[in-house]
Amino acid sequence: MTEKQYYDLIVIGAGTGGYVAAIKASQLGKKVALVEKGELGGTCLNVGCIPTKTMIANAQVLEKVKHAADFGITTGAISIDFAKMKERKDGVITKIRKGLEGLIRSNGITILRGTAQFTGPKELKVKGQDNVMIQGEKIIIASGSEPMDIPAFPCDHQKVFNSTSILELTQLPKTLAIIGGGYIGCEFASLYAELGVKVILLEALPAIVAAQGKMISDTLTAAFKKQGIDVQTGVFVEGIDKHAKGVTVRLKDKGPIEADAVLVAVGRKVVSQGMALENAGVLISDRGAITVNDKMETNVPGIYAVGDVTGQVMLAHVASHQGIVAAMNAAGLEAVMHYNAVPAVIFTLPEIAMVGLTQEQAIEQGYAAAVGKFPFQALGKAVASMDTEGFAQVIIDKKTGQILGAQVVGHEASSLIAEMALAIANELTVDCLADTIHAHPTLPEALHEAGLMAMDIPLHMPPKVRK
Ligand SMILES: Cc1cc2nc3c(=O)[nH]c(=O)nc-3n(C[C@H](O)[C@H](O)[C@H](O)COP(=O)(O)OP(=O)(O)OC[C@H]3O[C@@H](n4cnc5c(N)ncnc54)[C@H](O)[C@@H]3O)c2cc1C
Repeated sequence: MTEKQYYDLIVIGAGTGGYVAAIKASQLGKKVALVEKGELGGTCLNVGCIPTKTMIANAQVLEKVKHAADFGITTGAISIDFAKMKERKDGVITKIRKGLEGLIRSNGITILRGTAQFTGPKELKVKGQDNVMIQGEKIIIASGSEPMDIPAFPCDHQKVFNSTSILELTQLPKTLAIIGGGYIGCEFASLYAELGVKVILLEALPAIVAAQGKMISDTLTAAFKKQGIDVQTGVFVEGIDKHAKGVTVRLKDKGPIEADAVLVAVGRKVVSQGMALENAGVLISDRGAITVNDKMETNVPGIYAVGDVTGQVMLAHVASHQGIVAAMNAAGLEAVMHYNAVPAVIFTLPEIAMVGLTQEQAIEQGYAAAVGKFPFQALGKAVASMDTEGFAQVIIDKKTGQILGAQVVGHEASSLIAEMALAIANELTVDCLADTIHAHPTLPEALHEAGLMAMDIPLHMPPKVRK
């Protein structure tokens, strides 16, 4: 152990929550240490958002190439080099990780490599590549989450995978059973189906992506069925038997399912173990999540927690925003988290994106909700690029015109939703949307038109009552 080091702020975990918090605190003039036991970038960069979206980009290219003839382009036989796809994915991660390390260092942040453990409310022991005692005036915990294992069918990472180990495959299975129809299970289902794998998606609840509401769930189920995915809801997996040819997935009250491999995507558990939180007196919930208020403060003054470990909205952009809020409060400024305009995207084919309230939620909350829904089929840009599947939907309060929510299904839904997040976060009205000039021909025109439709004054759809 070297001599004890002193910092204004120590951040545990260099995922999207932790490294953003570290940069923000450094910008505010604080001397910051960032402790990471694994790879910089955490789950999102190494085994989450970036690798999955890199693989999904491959599937999107394949989908376009399959329809090349419709664009007047003749191709030869199409084949997939899955090992090459995996290699590209690894390259993307390495490239971004290098850039991230440079970015963190350019902010004057000290990176310490090892596991951080509390020895008191202001003191930590780092053990690993670096071995050092560190003291921090303030501490932010951003230790993240990891895949949940089910004791009845643990992952062996040979035939039974989790979302991390499946990213290491270099050969496509012929048949893949996916347990869990949340957004992670659905993204993998869409990816593998597009690459020609027979996918069976097993969900215990009555619907896939149930948390996103009925409209999104129904839309995705219909798209999956069209894609050839066998969606089975209301099924309970009792166990998995491995054999020479593959696996047998045993279901309660139903016949078994045969597959080459299984992906277990049943959720994630927070990482609050291994930091000796008890030495600092930080409280955790029954599920292990660190309890925080809207300033991201834990029960211990001077200790904050952000990101997945708080068990709130487990998304990368939420983790980073919480990191900014925590860093500002730790630096003596005032900041609070708001969750009313958090965009969420399911990167399936088609993409699904949402922000704010659904129509049902708006009605439940007592709004005079009006809906405008504009189909991509009626959009010049979508027709030109043959991306006509899907729609943009805007929910407004009829009384005040305030934009309450939006849902987009289709090409580039992930990008389109940003405009609505801006509108909702800033409490804009539908008039603001209608008065904003949208470039033509572009996909965002769908949102403009959806806004007009919510006001019953569509320009590019026939009026409800024909003249
Ligand atoms: C397959 C998959 C796809 C996803 N896709 C998306 C997406 O498209 N969009 C999106 O918004 N979100 C996505 N997510 C979720 C996103 O990855 C997480 O919400 C995000 O990474 C959370 O960030 P975090 O900083 O809280 O934690 P993490 O990214 O998990 O980082 C925590 C870090 O802390 C380190 N650590 C833990 N304990 C210690 C300790 N004691 N000492 C030192 N270091 C420690 C860990 O090694 C880790 O690097 C996806 C997740 C998965 C699994």
